[in-house]
Amino acid sequence: MPKTERPSRFRLPTDVRPREYEIRLEPDLEAGRFRGEVDIAVGVERKRQEVVLHAAELKVERATAHADGVETTARVRADADAQTVTLRFPRPLPAGDARLRLRFSGRLNQHLRGLYAASADGRRYAFSQCEAADARRIFPCFDEPAFKARFRLAVTVPDGLRAVSNSPIEAEHDGPDGHVIRFAPTPLLSTYLFALAVGPLEASAERRLGDVPIRVWHAPGKGHLTELGLEAAAEALRRLEEYFDIPYPYGKLDLVAVPDFEAGAMENAGAVFFRETLLLLDPATVSLNEHKRAGEVIAHELAHMWYGDLVTMAWWDDLWLNEAFATWMAYRVVDDWRPEWRLWQGFEHDRAGALALDALANTHPIYGEVRSVAEATQNFDAITYEKGAAVVRMLEHFLGAEKFRDGVRLYMRRHREGNAVAADLWHALEAASGREVARVAQAWIEKAGFPLVAFGRAKGAADRVLRVRQERFFADPKVAAARRRDRWPVPLVVRWRTTDGSSGVDRVLVDRAATDVTLGADTRLRWYFGNAEAGGFYRVLHDAADRTALLEDLAALTPVERLALANDQWALVRAAKGPIEGFLDVADALGDETDYDVVEGLGGPLAVVDEQIVAPESVEQAHFRGWIARRFGPAFARLGWVPAAGEDDPTRLRRAALLRLLGGIAEAPAVLAEARARLDAYLEDRGTLDPNLADPVVGLAARVGDEALYDRYRALVAEARTPQERRRFLLGLAAFRAPATIRRTLDSTLSPDIPTQDVAFLLMRLLGNPAGRAEAWKFLTRRWAALRRRIPPLMISRLVEALPSLREPRAASEVRAFFAAHPVPEAARTLKQSLEVFRLNAELRRRTAPELARWLADRAG
Ligand SMILES: [Zn+2]
Repeated sequence: MPKTERPSRFRLPTDVRPREYEIRLEPDLEAGRFRGEVDIAVGVERKRQEVVLHAAELKVERATAHADGVETTARVRADADAQTVTLRFPRPLPAGDARLRLRFSGRLNQHLRGLYAASADGRRYAFSQCEAADARRIFPCFDEPAFKARFRLAVTVPDGLRAVSNSPIEAEHDGPDGHVIRFAPTPLLSTYLFALAVGPLEASAERRLGDVPIRVWHAPGKGHLTELGLEAAAEALRRLEEYFDIPYPYGKLDLVAVPDFEAGAMENAGAVFFRETLLLLDPATVSLNEHKRAGEVIAHELAHMWYGDLVTMAWWDDLWLNEAFATWMAYRVVDDWRPEWRLWQGFEHDRAGALALDALANTHPIYGEVRSVAEATQNFDAITYEKGAAVVRMLEHFLGAEKFRDGVRLYMRRHREGNAVAADLWHALEAASGREVARVAQAWIEKAGFPLVAFGRAKGAADRVLRVRQERFFADPKVAAARRRDRWPVPLVVRWRTTDGSSGVDRVLVDRAATDVTLGADTRLRWYFGNAEAGGFYRVLHDAADRTALLEDLAALTPVERLALANDQWALVRAAKGPIEGFLDVADALGDETDYDVVEGLGGPLAVVDEQIVAPESVEQAHFRGWIARRFGPAFARLGWVPAAGEDDPTRLRRAALLRLLGGIAEAPAVLAEARARLDAYLEDRGTLDPNLADPVVGLAARVGDEALYDRYRALVAEARTPQERRRFLLGLAAFRAPATIRRTLDSTLSPDIPTQDVAFLLMRLLGNPAGRAEAWKFLTRRWAALRRRIPPLMISRLVEALPSLREPRAASEVRAFFAAHPVPEAARTLKQSLEVFRLNAELRRRTAPELARWLADRAG
């Protein structure tokens, strides 16, 4: 974010409301400028001498108003801080209809927002990115979501360039200044959904769903990568139309692959923009995770066409609902399309991330008052998306899938093309289900944090009455008891098994701090698990005997439950609610685990043990890595590096997950050497490696690679055959350990060769590289001013979040001091969270290192 911008707390008056924008834009890609005119039909509620609109970094050259057949010219006063222009008329505008006409010009910026310049392969483009409040950088407008209006856009481009916007092209002709493309009027839209892409873009063939043509737009030469994206879009759109019971509202659907883009994707109505990695896929080399992720993001954006675009939040304080709903909906849609991908099982990784963030004292409630756009921007985090989605999912389970869907349909019908607040959704869900929704939902969204639900037997080991207690869970063991005294309406789902082998699931809403729950078992219980299918947003503490009983019958749990059990045990260790053995015993019991998501999920906590608890290059580290190699090595050896003929996807993914443990964490020398050798074969012939191994092999080979290999990666970034391959080699640059390569990667972050979208990712990877982190931090502090210009606001938070990898307590004070001297308002909360994590890691190390050493020594002998 450029330094001049202090996002304003200013809200526009509501007595002048736009109805329709007629916009003419003329971007000049060579000169990096644009000019335009906007003609806004407004309704004026009572006579006004002044009208205020949003505008930022625009030069307004002339402004007039037409009302009652009279044209008047306004004096224009710009306020850069408030991001507004005020039009002052010689005589008041009368109440009634009027037209405001403004002529303006601006620059195509380099910050991936408003209308910005992008280049790829020597070709120039301009793309828009308006959410949250950057439409005002393209044309003067009423830039708040509740001011919905129609848009009629005409764009003049040089011959040979194409333009894509929200609606279909109505007409085009050659004019004196270039080729004029006129788009059909849109339905009512908020300004943040306005879209424009200009450049030498090419389109795929159309795929039709009913009357809706779907196309993928891309930079030249990438047409062969559009098929999987089109398929995912068509499959999602069909399911969404059915779910909402409203046909797709925007006539046509364009999906645009943008070569330089900050977010993953943006749900502009009718013209959705994506990072190339999430839309352009090669069926021959794409990995399953890349394919899944693209399918999920495409479904997420298309869910917004209804939820967000057709019915829009009245203000940014309900942004969470937009995002939580779209996140949940995408999992639902893709799970229906490709059940074999087991999306909800993969959601456990996201739930774990949201729980970890929400366990910090510096977390925030899902819902919070938003006074400025900067405050809204801070909220694009795991709490808004993943915790929000988990809460939506809990509500769906609580009400039943059909009742929930009926409520959503009612909400869409009531507010179509309008604005709504969260309470409108609760009311619709209550009307459809006859159940109490608002109270349960509000508790989860208005309170920060989540409960730890502790289970024990009420009367004795075999009893089927469980004593259930809840308190707020904190990762910090030092948080006082008084702050933990909090409770939620928890929709508990408990799975159990009896000693004679019968099993069942019980559902009960627990409101109180302590309560007894009687399970439906009719004989003695063998075990129970307190969060069936990991559907609830809470942590579970089983008493010790019950946990042991579970470990003896782990295979009876579903994979997502085993993973949740391991994650809960790890969270309990962090919070000093249990010894580190409690987690290690579970991890050890999972050594022969056959499900890839479980193996993958263990990687998170095991990496923390390796990075934060054991000292680098110590005996403990050797013991720890040796234990991983002994425990998970045999499974990897059985699978080998090359898939058997006809091998299924879950097995391929398990091999990749095991490789990450053995190569990525344990750094087993034989595995690293083999990865290096297989890389050479892979570079010769991409067919020699299972696509799911490409990411780990490129990363592991870099760790042991020399400068010559580094040069090859640099060349491969430029010549990559797919966006995923480009990303792979680019991020691979940050995995090299030779000092010269680390310096070169750092320098590259300031060079225009690296697009703005990738700068923060490279730095984050370097912070994760033990040989690079100290250098990366030094570089960051020395070149901050230049880096800041290259890192957009959402990315700054991600970077600050990665800083606790620096580990040393000294680093924590350096980080604190540096950001005190160089404040970053859009990452203020993330900074507090990072400093908290530094502190928690140090405490974890002090407390658990001796226990860990004992546990490892027992196993090393
Ligand atoms: Zn979204």
